[in-house]
Amino acid sequence: MDEEDIKQRIKDYQQADGVRALTCGNNSKHEKLYPKVLEQGLVLLCPNCKYTQTYIPDLFFDDGFYEWLRGMKSLI
Ligand SMILES: [Zn+2]
Repeated sequence: MDEEDIKQRIKDYQQADGVRALTCGNNSKHEKLYPKVLEQGLVLLCPNCKYTQTYIPDLFFDDGFYEWLRGMKSLI
């Protein structure tokens, strides 16, 4: 699967209600992490500090999970 697809999945997840959004490892009060494709690959960045998470949770590679997430969004 392409990194841009995973990036979109993460964006959708971060905007969804009823899920625990991915947050900064330095300060959980910072804004939600956002995905970005860098030279090293896809990472999650904090908008408020230099925190960079290179680990992408497995659930974003799971098609079943994404179908579930899209179903959630359609209910909103
Ligand atoms: Zn932060």
